[in-house]
Amino acid sequence: AKAEGRNNYRFFLPSMHERVKERKTIEEDLRNALEQDQLELYYQPKIDCRTERVVGAEALVRWHHPDRGLILPGEFISVAEECGLINRLGAWVLDRACRQTQIWRETTLPGLRIAVNLSPAQFQDAELVTSVTQIMDQTLLPDGTLELEITESILMNNPEKAVSTLNELKGLGVRIAIDDFGTGYSSLNYLKRFPVSSIKIDRSFVNDIHVDMDDKAIVDAVIGLGHSLNLEVVAEGVEEIEQHEYLRDKGCDFIQGFLFAKPLPADVFEKWVTERHA
Ligand code: C2E
Ligand code: CA
Ligand code: CA
Ligand code: CA
Repeated sequence: AKAEGRNNYRFFLPSMHERVKERKTIEEDLRNALEQDQLELYYQPKIDCRTERVVGAEALVRWHHPDRGLILPGEFISVAEECGLINRLGAWVLDRACRQTQIWRETTLPGLRIAVNLSPAQFQDAELVTSVTQIMDQTLLPDGTLELEITESILMNNPEKAVSTLNELKGLGVRIAIDDFGTGYSSLNYLKRFPVSSIKIDRSFVNDIHVDMDDKAIVDAVIGLGHSLNLEVVAEGVEEIEQHEYLRDKGCDFIQGFLFAKPLPADVFEKWVTERHA
């Protein structure tokens, strides 16, 4: 309902009310989504920067809403975090991604690696290590196949706890990547302290890499830092050939981006990789 009339507050009250209502609606719909199988994983290829072969995929969740169509995670992950649904959602994502990867590895895509995003609340969940243990037992994914992507903020909240959780995950053969690297507040020191195996250079630095001297300098430094600490360096958001060439010349290990492929539904991803490698 559109507010009319002379009083300003009448303009604001309904719209605030509507925003709260909208979140409530998303929350209720999301509960149904989990029960009614409306979520789907898309897979974006991760490419070896030099050979241009596909080495793995990042799983990215999508929601097929019965009325609103396809909804991107930017619209519902934060709601899921706020209303406590993120752990169920995250467990579903992890399970689905690992099972799909196991099937692919045994059939058309041997050697494929999989990366799954973890939200801060999931990382703090006491059940995380237990559920990852179960999934690894069930799928028997070899060491190094599953990578969990976390953000810098996760490590800063409670560093001691984070180190012990990461070590437990490492003990299960899980690799850890720092997502959106460079956008957080962290000190570089934590890269030494935490058992991390790769860093993903944020898209915002990659965007203008071929034209902006500052972004060039930042990306050069991150690649150098990563390699001197024995970390794999991944660049995300690669859209232009010039960006790929720059990153390859600087020794970046892996890249993801629309230049190669958008996140794809499982069957399309499988076909895309098989044809590319044929
Ligand atoms: P992210 O982890 O940084 O994922 C990369 C995002 O960039 C994806 O958006 C992807 O589609 C997009 N992207 C990839 N290549 C390009 C490119 O070349 N150009 C541009 N402009 N964009 C590119 P998406 O799928 O909408 O996901 C957004 C964010 O939602 C993710 O950012 C991640 O933080 C979160 N997310 C997605 N799936 C999950 C999930 O299963 N669990 C959790 N906790 N978070 C998720
Ligand atoms: Ca990610
Ligand atoms: Ca990212
Ligand atoms: Ca992000």
